[in-house]
Amino acid sequence: MINVPELFGSMVFNEHVMRDRLPKDVFAALQSTIKAGKSVSSEVADAVACAMKDWAIEKGATHYTHWFQPMTGITAEKHDSFIDPEDGGAVIMKFSGKQLIKGEPDASSFPSGGLRSTFEARGYTAWDPTSYAFVKGSVLYIPTAFISYSGQVLDKKTPLLRSMNSLSDAALRVLKLFGKTPERVTASVGSEQEYFLIPRELYKKRPDLIITGRTLFGAKPPKGQELEDHYFGNIKSKVLEYMEDLDRELWKLGIYAKTRHNEVAPAQHELAPIYATVNIATDHNQLTMSVMRKVAKKHDLVCLLHEKPFAGVNGSGKHNNWSISTSDGENLLEPGKDLKNNLQFMLFLTAVIKAVDEHQDLLRLSVATAGNDHRLGAHEAPPAIISMFLGDEITDLLETLASGKEYKNHHGNKLSTGVESVPVIYEDTTDRNRTSPFAFTGNKFEFRSLGSSTNIACPNVMINAAVADALNYFADRLENEKDFCKAALALIKETYEKHKRIVFNGDNYADEWQTEAKKRGLLDLKGTPEALSYYDRQENLELFKRLKIYNNEEVRARKDILLENYCKVISIEAQTMCEITQKQILPAAVRFSTMLADNVSRLSILGVNVAAQTEVLNAVADLINDAYAAEKKLCELQLAVKTEADLQRKADGCHDKVFAAMQDLRAYCDRLETLLPKELWPFPTYGDLLLYV
Ligand code: ADP
Ligand code: MG
Repeated sequence: MINVPELFGSMVFNEHVMRDRLPKDVFAALQSTIKAGKSVSSEVADAVACAMKDWAIEKGATHYTHWFQPMTGITAEKHDSFIDPEDGGAVIMKFSGKQLIKGEPDASSFPSGGLRSTFEARGYTAWDPTSYAFVKGSVLYIPTAFISYSGQVLDKKTPLLRSMNSLSDAALRVLKLFGKTPERVTASVGSEQEYFLIPRELYKKRPDLIITGRTLFGAKPPKGQELEDHYFGNIKSKVLEYMEDLDRELWKLGIYAKTRHNEVAPAQHELAPIYATVNIATDHNQLTMSVMRKVAKKHDLVCLLHEKPFAGVNGSGKHNNWSISTSDGENLLEPGKDLKNNLQFMLFLTAVIKAVDEHQDLLRLSVATAGNDHRLGAHEAPPAIISMFLGDEITDLLETLASGKEYKNHHGNKLSTGVESVPVIYEDTTDRNRTSPFAFTGNKFEFRSLGSSTNIACPNVMINAAVADALNYFADRLENEKDFCKAALALIKETYEKHKRIVFNGDNYADEWQTEAKKRGLLDLKGTPEALSYYDRQENLELFKRLKIYNNEEVRARKDILLENYCKVISIEAQTMCEITQKQILPAAVRFSTMLADNVSRLSILGVNVAAQTEVLNAVADLINDAYAAEKKLCELQLAVKTEADLQRKADGCHDKVFAAMQDLRAYCDRLETLLPKELWPFPTYGDLLLYV
């Protein structure tokens, strides 16, 4: 029997450990700097470093690392041991405040989008004391932000911390109008993580999975997700053992792993944590993904976090549940029970409506990756069009407020819409809508467009920034109003009228929605290159500058890094496809056609009917020619696109030409798979990979 409370956080240098191990004054100083978001003095840092090192050594650590999140999308670490030479050839274990606060990794090999030319390749990492340090294996991990020497951001964490500050400042301005003065407002996030588990033995035989994280070939198995018997189904014992082990490892690291279940597709599962402050949720999600992969290895499994490992089978996403609350514990998206709080709720809600409508492009591009392009709009994830679900009751209420008519709520209570009577909203009359990209779910918004491998920092930077900007606008408008309530209600009406086109409570998968959305003037940014082209629009540059999240060069650098990354992914996939076609699929098909030809010629001498074999032989021969031609074309297109100097045009070319050619090649090869005998097909099939864990 495991003792969960005892296990939980046992590898984390959390508040309890700090209280136990730090001198009282150091503990107090650290806590207050964390709360105020200020930097730590060198005396405090020295004392914290010393206590942290002693604690980490007791947990088995010999090294420490500044753990950061560069623009590669994964986390980075470089291990330094604690050893320090002593006279006589001995060592002692040492760790100073300076080493805790600042690290200097060689930054030259991390993507910087041209922000940092190689002669000044230096960047540094700065301790983020708001996210706890932890021990994993033999290493003390210190969460940090990664910045260039000239102060430009090179990572995903710094802008997130900046956006949290902007959001807090803006929300505090609005709360002040309600006579509330909490210390801080923070965004909280719970991110539901989907993943696939497949046998490691079979994985090793699929070069496409190894190189690209997804299958580039594969005919649909006879049984996929048609029977819908996997969702919430009985968890197989091998998978359950994995999940139990995973939970234990995550708990040790202080991650609130809460829910586990099977997902829609065979071999697909989900893990949801309890929500936490967004920068911690971000660190935890990155950590969760890496622990998921590692634990799978121990169970002879592979955890696939790619958005679309298998064509024709549901892909994996990540739901980002987002809310904002005060340091006094009030959730600002919780419908209020009394009049005054209800006005406040309505104001925050309309701020989000304005934010999502005005910044559809930023939300959309924050989830744009080559992997996620397979999901968005494919009837398994929200469409590429960003819209919001509010539910009938809130929508009716806003509609009625806007029209100035009498409001009758779903419980039959009539309420006039004067200032004195902002109606009370009853919880849970909002029905669930699983197809909406951005759904209000009672006291939080669920952003559902994220891909499973996405670092949640960027989507949350966008939500925080967009909402902060709307709240600042509200505060500007309301701060000098004499009759605050009346002015606030008028502003709610005005904002809803202006932005209600973004509200859509219907089926987002329906074809009619595409037409309707177009009529409403909503953006429909289909692929990653198109979405990213919006990043440095003038409005966006101004928004980020206003909120002190990015300067213009940082935005452009980010856009370039993401475009470049997209091109690299497509190019690696294309080259892998060409290689597998040439080296494995065509040789297998040729072997089969030779077998068939042999059979046809021998049997026909004997006068045996060879109609069936001849038909298959012709089909295989045709497909060999088609696949060969498609492979050649893909190879040429891929090389041609590479020479394009303009990054946007290069990415567009990858999307419109290379990716399209990949689809063509795949279609021929998948047909070959259905014709070839199992023993000749060069790698495990979808059926092997998905149905036998
Ligand atoms: P679903 O029905 O989509 O599975 P759940 O109710 O199980 O949704 O919750 C999903 C996630 O939302 C969990 O990670 C949970 O911790 C998180 N969550 C719940 N309340 C909040 C909140 N106020 N703010 C942010 N996240 C929240
Ligand atoms: Mg969900």
